[in-house]
Amino acid sequence: MENRKIERLVTPAEFHYVGDGFKVHNFVPGDLGLDQRRMDPFVMLDYNAPMEVRPSEGKPKGVGPHPHRGFETVTIAYKGNVAHHDSHGGGGVIGEGDVQWMTAASGVLHKEYYSEEFNRAGGVFQMVQLWVNLPAKNKMSMPKYQSIENGKMPKVNVQNGLVEVVAGEYQGKKGPAFTFTPIYMLNAKLQSGGKADFDFPESYTVAVLAIEGKATINGESKIETHQLALLDRSATGFSISAEDDAVFLILAGEPINEPIASYGPFVMNTKEEIMQAMQDFNVGKFGELED
Ligand code: MN
Repeated sequence: MENRKIERLVTPAEFHYVGDGFKVHNFVPGDLGLDQRRMDPFVMLDYNAPMEVRPSEGKPKGVGPHPHRGFETVTIAYKGNVAHHDSHGGGGVIGEGDVQWMTAASGVLHKEYYSEEFNRAGGVFQMVQLWVNLPAKNKMSMPKYQSIENGKMPKVNVQNGLVEVVAGEYQGKKGPAFTFTPIYMLNAKLQSGGKADFDFPESYTVAVLAIEGKATINGESKIETHQLALLDRSATGFSISAEDDAVFLILAGEPINEPIASYGPFVMNTKEEIMQAMQDFNVGKFGELED
Protein backbone atom coordinates (compact mmCIF):
# COMPACT_ATOMS: atom_id res chain seq x y z
CA MET A 1 0.00 0.00 0.00
CA GLU A 2 1.22 3.50 -0.78
CA ASN A 3 2.01 5.85 2.08
CA ARG A 4 1.92 9.61 2.52
CA LYS A 5 5.37 10.93 1.68
CA ILE A 6 7.29 13.85 3.09
CA GLU A 7 6.38 16.89 1.01
CA ARG A 8 8.60 19.21 2.99
CA LEU A 9 11.09 18.55 5.78
CA VAL A 10 12.06 21.71 7.62
CA THR A 11 14.69 22.56 10.20
CA PRO A 12 13.65 25.26 12.68
CA ALA A 13 14.38 28.88 11.82
CA GLU A 14 16.32 31.14 14.20
CA PHE A 15 14.42 31.69 17.46
CA HIS A 16 12.72 34.90 18.52
CA TYR A 17 11.22 35.94 21.84
CA VAL A 18 7.48 36.11 22.52
CA GLY A 19 7.23 38.44 25.49
CA ASP A 20 10.30 37.94 27.67
CA GLY A 21 9.79 34.26 28.51
CA PHE A 22 9.17 32.26 25.37
CA LYS A 23 12.05 31.59 23.03
CA VAL A 24 10.34 30.15 20.01
CA HIS A 25 11.18 28.76 16.62
CA ASN A 26 8.37 29.65 14.25
CA PHE A 27 7.37 26.94 11.79
CA VAL A 28 4.00 28.25 10.53
CA PRO A 29 3.47 30.56 8.68
CA GLY A 30 6.99 32.13 8.42
CA ASP A 31 9.62 31.62 5.73
CA LEU A 32 9.87 27.84 5.72
CA GLY A 33 7.23 27.36 3.01
CA LEU A 34 4.56 26.27 5.49
CA ASP A 35 2.01 28.92 4.61
CA GLN A 36 -1.45 29.21 6.12
CA ARG A 37 -3.17 28.00 2.95
CA ARG A 38 -1.15 24.77 2.73
CA MET A 39 -1.31 24.19 6.50
CA ASP A 40 -5.08 24.89 6.76
CA PRO A 41 -6.57 24.64 9.44
CA PHE A 42 -3.29 25.29 11.34
CA VAL A 43 -2.48 28.99 11.04
CA MET A 44 0.51 29.26 13.39
CA LEU A 45 2.99 26.92 15.04
CA ASP A 46 5.69 28.11 17.44
CA TYR A 47 8.06 25.69 19.10
CA ASN A 48 9.95 26.50 22.28
CA ALA A 49 12.82 23.99 22.14
CA PRO A 50 14.13 22.83 25.55
CA MET A 51 15.79 25.70 27.42
CA GLU A 52 17.10 26.03 30.93
CA VAL A 53 15.25 28.62 33.03
CA ARG A 54 17.14 29.87 36.10
CA PRO A 55 15.33 30.12 39.44
CA SER A 56 13.99 33.62 40.03
CA GLU A 57 12.38 35.60 42.84
CA GLY A 58 11.21 38.25 40.38
CA LYS A 59 8.03 38.54 38.35
CA PRO A 60 7.49 35.40 36.25
CA LYS A 61 8.48 35.87 32.63
CA GLY A 62 6.08 35.47 29.76
CA VAL A 63 3.76 37.62 27.75
CA GLY A 64 1.32 40.18 29.16
CA PRO A 65 -2.30 40.84 28.20
CA HIS A 66 -2.94 40.71 24.45
CA PRO A 67 -6.01 40.00 22.30
CA HIS A 68 -7.00 37.17 19.98
CA ARG A 69 -10.02 36.71 17.73
CA GLY A 70 -11.18 34.16 15.17
CA PHE A 71 -9.29 31.02 16.16
CA GLU A 72 -8.00 28.84 19.02
CA THR A 73 -4.64 28.87 20.77
CA VAL A 74 -3.43 25.47 21.91
CA THR A 75 -0.43 25.13 24.23
CA ILE A 76 1.21 21.75 24.70
CA ALA A 77 3.60 21.56 27.66
CA TYR A 78 6.44 19.06 27.32
CA LYS A 79 8.66 20.46 30.09
CA GLY A 80 8.02 23.17 32.67
CA ASN A 81 4.82 24.94 33.69
CA VAL A 82 2.84 27.79 32.26
CA ALA A 83 0.04 29.82 33.82
CA HIS A 84 -2.74 31.31 31.74
CA HIS A 85 -5.48 33.84 32.48
CA ASP A 86 -8.00 35.33 30.11
CA SER A 87 -10.65 38.05 30.20
CA HIS A 88 -13.42 35.48 29.82
CA GLY A 89 -12.52 33.94 33.20
CA GLY A 90 -10.51 31.01 31.88
CA GLY A 91 -7.26 30.24 33.62
CA GLY A 92 -4.99 27.74 35.24
CA VAL A 93 -1.56 26.19 35.26
CA ILE A 94 -0.52 23.43 32.91
CA GLY A 95 2.51 21.24 33.52
CA GLU A 96 4.44 18.48 31.84
CA GLY A 97 2.21 16.47 29.51
CA ASP A 98 -0.81 18.79 29.84
CA VAL A 99 -2.53 20.81 27.14
CA GLN A 100 -4.40 24.09 27.31
CA TRP A 101 -6.94 24.68 24.57
CA MET A 102 -8.27 28.23 24.47
CA THR A 103 -11.01 29.15 22.04
CA ALA A 104 -10.57 32.88 21.49
CA ALA A 105 -13.42 32.97 18.94
CA SER A 106 -15.25 36.35 19.30
CA GLY A 107 -12.36 37.69 21.35
CA VAL A 108 -10.44 37.52 24.59
CA LEU A 109 -7.47 39.14 26.19
CA HIS A 110 -5.09 36.68 27.73
CA LYS A 111 -1.67 36.52 29.34
CA GLU A 112 0.77 33.65 29.56
CA TYR A 113 3.54 33.41 32.15
CA TYR A 114 5.75 30.82 33.81
CA SER A 115 3.83 29.56 36.85
CA GLU A 116 4.92 31.04 40.22
CA GLU A 117 6.29 27.67 41.25
CA PHE A 118 8.26 27.10 38.05
CA ASN A 119 9.59 30.65 38.23
CA ARG A 120 10.96 30.03 41.75
CA ALA A 121 12.31 26.55 41.10
CA GLY A 122 13.53 26.98 37.51
CA GLY A 123 14.16 24.03 35.24
CA VAL A 124 13.78 22.98 31.66
CA PHE A 125 11.03 24.61 29.61
CA GLN A 126 9.72 23.10 26.35
CA MET A 127 6.36 23.85 24.72
CA VAL A 128 4.47 24.06 21.47
CA GLN A 129 1.90 26.71 20.70
CA LEU A 130 -0.44 26.02 17.84
CA TRP A 131 -3.19 28.22 16.42
CA VAL A 132 -6.17 26.33 15.04
CA ASN A 133 -8.34 28.34 12.69
CA LEU A 134 -12.12 28.47 13.07
CA PRO A 135 -14.60 28.43 10.19
CA ALA A 136 -16.58 31.65 9.53
CA LYS A 137 -19.65 30.29 11.31
CA ASN A 138 -17.69 29.81 14.57
CA LYS A 139 -15.36 32.80 14.51
CA MET A 140 -17.68 34.95 16.60
CA SER A 141 -18.88 32.23 18.97
CA MET A 142 -18.35 32.41 22.75
CA PRO A 143 -14.79 32.11 24.06
CA LYS A 144 -14.04 28.86 25.85
CA TYR A 145 -11.20 27.34 27.85
CA GLN A 146 -10.26 23.68 28.10
CA SER A 147 -7.58 22.55 30.52
CA ILE A 148 -6.65 19.05 29.45
CA GLU A 149 -4.65 17.14 32.02
CA ASN A 150 -2.38 14.36 30.86
CA GLY A 151 -4.28 11.83 32.98
CA LYS A 152 -7.41 12.42 30.90
CA MET A 153 -5.72 11.53 27.61
CA PRO A 154 -6.19 7.92 26.48
CA LYS A 155 -2.90 6.07 25.92
CA VAL A 156 -2.89 3.40 23.24
CA ASN A 157 -0.10 0.82 23.33
CA VAL A 158 1.88 0.36 20.14
CA GLN A 159 5.12 -1.49 19.37
CA ASN A 160 7.61 -0.32 22.04
CA GLY A 161 5.66 2.73 23.03
CA LEU A 162 2.32 4.44 23.21
CA VAL A 163 0.20 7.01 21.44
CA GLU A 164 -1.46 9.65 23.60
CA VAL A 165 -4.71 11.11 22.29
CA VAL A 166 -5.34 14.82 22.93
CA ALA A 167 -7.84 15.42 20.11
CA GLY A 168 -9.44 13.19 17.53
CA GLU A 169 -9.01 9.48 17.99
CA TYR A 170 -6.51 6.69 17.67
CA GLN A 171 -7.56 3.08 17.28
CA GLY A 172 -11.02 3.89 18.56
CA LYS A 173 -9.89 5.84 21.65
CA LYS A 174 -11.14 9.42 21.62
CA GLY A 175 -9.20 12.37 22.98
CA PRO A 176 -10.80 14.76 25.51
CA ALA A 177 -10.42 17.99 23.48
CA PHE A 178 -13.54 19.49 21.97
CA THR A 179 -12.82 20.80 18.46
CA PHE A 180 -15.04 22.74 16.04
CA THR A 181 -13.73 20.98 12.93
CA PRO A 182 -12.07 17.55 12.67
CA ILE A 183 -8.63 17.86 14.31
CA TYR A 184 -6.23 15.17 15.43
CA MET A 185 -3.53 15.89 17.98
CA LEU A 186 -1.50 12.89 19.08
CA ASN A 187 1.79 12.35 20.89
CA ALA A 188 3.71 9.24 19.91
CA LYS A 189 6.07 8.32 22.75
CA LEU A 190 8.34 5.56 21.49
CA GLN A 191 11.42 3.78 22.71
CA SER A 192 14.20 2.82 20.35
CA GLY A 193 12.69 0.34 17.90
CA GLY A 194 9.18 1.60 18.60
CA LYS A 195 6.73 2.04 15.77
CA ALA A 196 3.30 3.60 15.32
CA ASP A 197 1.02 3.65 12.27
CA PHE A 198 -1.35 6.46 11.39
CA ASP A 199 -4.12 6.95 8.91
CA PHE A 200 -6.03 10.15 8.10
CA PRO A 201 -8.33 11.06 5.20
CA GLU A 202 -6.38 11.99 2.08
CA SER A 203 -7.57 15.63 2.02
CA TYR A 204 -6.33 16.30 5.58
CA THR A 205 -3.30 18.43 6.33
CA VAL A 206 -0.83 16.23 8.22
CA ALA A 207 2.42 17.27 9.92
CA VAL A 208 4.79 15.63 12.37
CA LEU A 209 7.13 17.48 14.76
CA ALA A 210 10.10 15.69 16.33
CA ILE A 211 9.99 16.88 19.93
CA GLU A 212 12.61 14.39 21.10
CA GLY A 213 14.73 11.78 19.37
CA LYS A 214 14.83 10.87 15.72
CA ALA A 215 12.89 8.51 13.55
CA THR A 216 12.11 7.39 10.04
CA ILE A 217 8.82 8.02 8.29
CA ASN A 218 7.60 4.91 6.43
CA GLY A 219 10.85 3.21 7.39
CA GLU A 220 12.84 5.24 4.87
CA SER A 221 12.81 9.03 5.28
CA LYS A 222 14.77 10.34 8.22
CA ILE A 223 13.50 13.06 10.52
CA GLU A 224 15.86 14.56 13.11
CA THR A 225 15.13 16.11 16.50
CA HIS A 226 13.23 19.44 16.23
CA GLN A 227 12.49 19.02 12.52
CA LEU A 228 8.98 19.21 11.17
CA ALA A 229 7.75 17.04 8.32
CA LEU A 230 4.74 18.08 6.28
CA LEU A 231 3.27 14.98 4.66
CA ASP A 232 1.69 15.01 1.22
CA ARG A 233 -1.84 14.09 0.14
CA SER A 234 -0.92 11.18 -2.11
CA ALA A 235 -2.25 8.57 0.33
CA THR A 236 -3.80 8.24 3.79
CA GLY A 237 -1.42 6.22 5.97
CA PHE A 238 2.17 6.50 7.19
CA SER A 239 4.33 5.16 9.98
CA ILE A 240 6.86 6.54 12.43
CA SER A 241 9.72 4.26 13.54
CA ALA A 242 11.88 5.56 16.38
CA GLU A 243 15.65 5.27 16.10
CA ASP A 244 16.13 6.21 19.76
CA ASP A 245 13.81 7.31 22.56
CA ALA A 246 11.46 9.66 20.78
CA VAL A 247 8.47 11.92 21.28
CA PHE A 248 6.62 12.96 18.14
CA LEU A 249 3.70 15.37 17.88
CA ILE A 250 1.29 14.38 15.12
CA LEU A 251 -1.13 17.02 13.84
CA ALA A 252 -3.87 16.37 11.32
CA GLY A 253 -6.89 18.41 10.35
CA GLU A 254 -9.55 18.82 7.73
CA PRO A 255 -8.87 22.01 5.75
CA ILE A 256 -11.52 24.69 6.30
CA ASN A 257 -11.03 26.03 2.75
CA GLU A 258 -12.17 29.58 3.44
CA PRO A 259 -10.35 32.85 2.72
CA ILE A 260 -7.81 33.72 5.43
CA ALA A 261 -7.24 37.32 6.48
CA SER A 262 -4.56 37.24 9.14
CA TYR A 263 -3.08 40.18 10.99
CA GLY A 264 -1.07 39.79 14.22
CA PRO A 265 -3.33 38.25 16.85
CA PHE A 266 -6.44 38.18 14.63
CA VAL A 267 -7.36 35.57 12.00
CA MET A 268 -10.54 36.36 10.10
CA ASN A 269 -11.95 35.84 6.58
CA THR A 270 -11.78 39.42 5.26
CA LYS A 271 -9.79 42.63 5.71
CA GLU A 272 -12.97 44.38 6.89
CA GLU A 273 -13.30 41.86 9.73
CA ILE A 274 -9.67 42.52 10.72
CA MET A 275 -10.40 46.27 10.82
CA GLN A 276 -13.47 45.54 12.94
CA ALA A 277 -11.40 43.39 15.33
CA MET A 278 -8.87 46.22 15.78
CA GLN A 279 -11.64 48.70 16.38
CA ASP A 280 -13.41 46.41 18.88
CA PHE A 281 -10.12 45.85 20.69
CA ASN A 282 -9.45 49.60 20.83
CA VAL A 283 -12.84 50.35 22.41
CA GLY A 284 -12.44 47.59 25.00
CA LYS A 285 -14.85 44.99 23.64
CA PHE A 286 -12.41 42.18 24.40
CA GLY A 287 -12.92 42.67 28.12
CA GLU A 288 -10.51 43.53 30.88
CA LEU A 289 -7.42 41.79 32.15
CA GLU A 290 -4.88 43.09 34.62
CA ASP A 291 -1.24 42.36 34.09
MN1 MN B 1 -1.61 34.61 22.97
